[in-house]
Amino acid sequence: EHYLKQIEEQKHLNVFLDVYDTEALAKADELQEKLDAGQPIGKLFGLVIGIKDVLVHQNHEVRSASKILEGFESQFTGTAVQRLIEEDAIIIGAQNCDEFAMGSSTENSTYGPTLNAADNSRVPGGSSGASAVSVQAGLCMASLGTDTGGSVRQPAAFCGVVGIKPTYSRVSRYGLIAFASSFDCIGVFSNNIEDNARILEVVAGHDEYDSTVSREDVPVYADNLQFNKKLKIAYVKETLENEALQSEIKEATLSKLEWLKSEGHQVNEVTFPHLDYLLPTYYILTTAEASTNLSRFDGVRYGYRAPEAHNIESMYKLSRSQGFGEEVKRRIMLGTFVLSASYFDAYYTKAQKVRRILRDETRAMLAEYDFIIMPTTPTTAFQLGSNRDNPAEMYLEDIFTVQANVTGIPAISIPNGTDTQNLPIGLQIMTDIFKESELYAFADYLI
Ligand code: GLN
Repeated sequence: EHYLKQIEEQKHLNVFLDVYDTEALAKADELQEKLDAGQPIGKLFGLVIGIKDVLVHQNHEVRSASKILEGFESQFTGTAVQRLIEEDAIIIGAQNCDEFAMGSSTENSTYGPTLNAADNSRVPGGSSGASAVSVQAGLCMASLGTDTGGSVRQPAAFCGVVGIKPTYSRVSRYGLIAFASSFDCIGVFSNNIEDNARILEVVAGHDEYDSTVSREDVPVYADNLQFNKKLKIAYVKETLENEALQSEIKEATLSKLEWLKSEGHQVNEVTFPHLDYLLPTYYILTTAEASTNLSRFDGVRYGYRAPEAHNIESMYKLSRSQGFGEEVKRRIMLGTFVLSASYFDAYYTKAQKVRRILRDETRAMLAEYDFIIMPTTPTTAFQLGSNRDNPAEMYLEDIFTVQANVTGIPAISIPNGTDTQNLPIGLQIMTDIFKESELYAFADYLI
């Protein structure tokens, strides 16, 4: 009841596309009865959690914030959401995002932008912007988002909350509407590390419905939050020298590094000369994957069909032209181009090779260092509308976050103070694959 009231009172933030009020209250009653009857309770008993509108949920609408899925209801529940339900969490509703998770501001939603609760004239980041705001504004305790190139970490940074992108393959993608399948990761937003760790532990792990998901054991992350060893930490010279980096973010990052040194940890500057190749590699490969993933939205099987279609070709053309927004169309066109017969080798194959190099270099760095630290974003939350007409500017927002997705490693964004306008600053920590336990413990120590 408390959270439903908060949602109602803060409707202007435009966080929820659906609120499952009756259902959530019924679930709460059911949980109370379970407790009264002394029955065993789940690991997430009573946790009130929201889910990004790209995670399917049986008999509930899901739209990826797109017109093309208008009216579509899923016939099944995806693995991550199913596991939350099985552990007695209460799903409170579906949360706004950029259409098909493409964007960095939640402005690319058919359902209008979500507002940052710290300053309503600013974006919350994206694409999981509403999932970040829901935690920031106290509309639920935690939420599930997705991170293909930064969509959990960047909004977490803009909203001053904790957001993790786990190792690629750590969480099943079954029931996650695909954007770029070799990058997509389900991640968690929360107010603190312990909640985050407890939720990831539940959603992570092997699943027979996703052939790419890992069989690696899932540790009890929250039981391993203590550590007392001296660490080797790297920071990347090129990130702190980046021209686009807001000075207050640079200072906040440097002061954390200084503090770590004063605590006796080894902190070294390293160089990552291929940093400039991260964004092009990311945008070539993700648009390629998106163009094929989104070919299934054809007016036949899901959601929207243009009413004036009169044959199969006009049905495809009109439904897709009217159903997809501008950014999604841009990505489909880019992706189709890089996959076209005459350009395939020059772009797609080349980008795959560069991806391998970037991964090997990143993993080599992590063989030497426990963690890499950098800012999550080059700026704090920007004004609504300010990057709208300039997609290239918007893509630069992802400069520090895409490395983890291109290379598959886990990364977390934690709050690291505020700038002079009182806007949250995020600090990003990256580590080697499947070291989420260490990542959480270190993040908890830093907060
Ligand atoms: N902002 C990035 C993009 O637009 C990341 C999106 C994401 O992680 N889903 O592609």
